[in-house]
Amino acid sequence: MAPGPVLTAQEDLIPYSFDGTAAISQMPGAVVFPTETAQVARLLQWANRERVAVIPRGSGSGLSGGSIPTPGSVVMSLVKMDRVLEVDRKNLTVLVETGATTEAVANAVSAANLFYPPDPGSMRISTIGGNVAENSGGLRGLKYGVTRNYVMGMEVVLPQGEVVWMGNKCVKDVAGYNLKDVFIGSEGTLGVITRVLLKLIPKPAAKKTMLATFAEMEKAAETISAIIAAQIIPCTLEFLDRTTIKCVEDYAHIGLPLDCDAIVLMETDGHPAVVAEESARMEQICRENGCTAVRVAKDDAEAVQLASARRTAFSALARVGPTTILEDVTVPRSELASMIRFIQKVAKDGGLRVGIFGHMGDGNLHPTFLTDERNHAEIEKVDRALELIVAETIRLGGTITGEHGVGLAKKKFLPQQLGEAQLRVMREVRRALDPAGILNPGKMFD
Ligand SMILES: Cc1cc2nc3c(=O)[nH]c(=O)nc-3n(C[C@H](O)[C@H](O)[C@H](O)COP(=O)(O)OP(=O)(O)OC[C@H]3O[C@@H](n4cnc5c(N)ncnc54)[C@H](O)[C@@H]3O)c2cc1C
Repeated sequence: MAPGPVLTAQEDLIPYSFDGTAAISQMPGAVVFPTETAQVARLLQWANRERVAVIPRGSGSGLSGGSIPTPGSVVMSLVKMDRVLEVDRKNLTVLVETGATTEAVANAVSAANLFYPPDPGSMRISTIGGNVAENSGGLRGLKYGVTRNYVMGMEVVLPQGEVVWMGNKCVKDVAGYNLKDVFIGSEGTLGVITRVLLKLIPKPAAKKTMLATFAEMEKAAETISAIIAAQIIPCTLEFLDRTTIKCVEDYAHIGLPLDCDAIVLMETDGHPAVVAEESARMEQICRENGCTAVRVAKDDAEAVQLASARRTAFSALARVGPTTILEDVTVPRSELASMIRFIQKVAKDGGLRVGIFGHMGDGNLHPTFLTDERNHAEIEKVDRALELIVAETIRLGGTITGEHGVGLAKKKFLPQQLGEAQLRVMREVRRALDPAGILNPGKMFD
């Protein structure tokens, strides 16, 4: 029945009972590691016959509980299907197996002097399959978009075992419904993605990285709006709040100022002349909007050091408390300052510790509660705070998740976000593709 090695011993199953999401775990019945598409297809055919749930899994770095097993289910780990199959310089594409890490793909195309922009903070470990299934974003999303913008084609094994190829290397294609877009962001509920054809772009010739310090969060948010209003679209506009800055500095010793309310990481890339002009203008806008200091990286080493302030934010916060509950709300950029104030007030009212960081240029905030899941009273307060934050996000015209997905963590909020009609259509799509309900059951909605 099953391909390759099969794990069934309790101690071997433990690493597959959780992902990057705090306070959710469930043991599976077994874990399998297919090495080719035909094995994925055979396993799904068997699972359909036997009515066994199958949970597709990449690296398990997900932050919404998408790859948490159901009791007795089979976890299908795709990490052994990790080859970069073809870099096509003439068509600017790369064909990869789904278990390749984002970093391996980025490095493979970089060696051919090409660029794959999506760069989730987890890119060293996250798989391309996980990125497509979550439609992951990253630190360059503002200028370059998210994973969806780079998927030109994919091979998917449908829940009943049929293998389908969708898309091609054509820049334009309007033949029929755009089905591949239904599978992007489907969180392992509609099919198992086995191969992905990704669009590439030329590598930017130059890049400038800088870090601005602000005494007040409002001023940081106003600066972001002013940069966008000046019609500059940097590749990165990220921020850290006071709590996060302190944790990052304790962890990474970058030399960050500790007497400020916010720091903003900015990167612009492209033609050297444009980069020089944009970076000078951004520095000027920061000063006009009341920043207390701007540090411009002198070389690549310093640029990496400054960017690491943002890249290490989650890990730095995670050291502080036994349990780190990371939110992912996104609001229209005009509402950023108001949303940050709201989150800070909710945390203060509940006596909770929160660090806020995120993709400020995208309006995507990651309020991160530092707590302890054994403290039930505090976890109840965190749950209540999350409910208030989600309600305010929706009131401001935002979304309950900008990039981490719904999975188990956001499932109860989805009806509020989408309404009954949209949910019904989604349920019907799922039922049409997976009538037996074997693929990642219970995720996104019941
Ligand atoms: C430190 C840290 C930083 C992060 N930074 C970011 C960030 O900047 N941006 C961002 O968007 N996310 C971020 N994430 C979240 C996470 O890394 C992404 O969601 C990532 O895409 C998950 O990839 P994975 O391989 O770990 O997938 P998993 O966690 O294993 O799975 C995620 C979901 O995808 C499904 N899935 C996985 N592979 C397949 C497949 N081949 N076919 C069908 N379904 C599949 C699973 O069933 C599950 O629902 C971060 C996480 C961590 C821990």
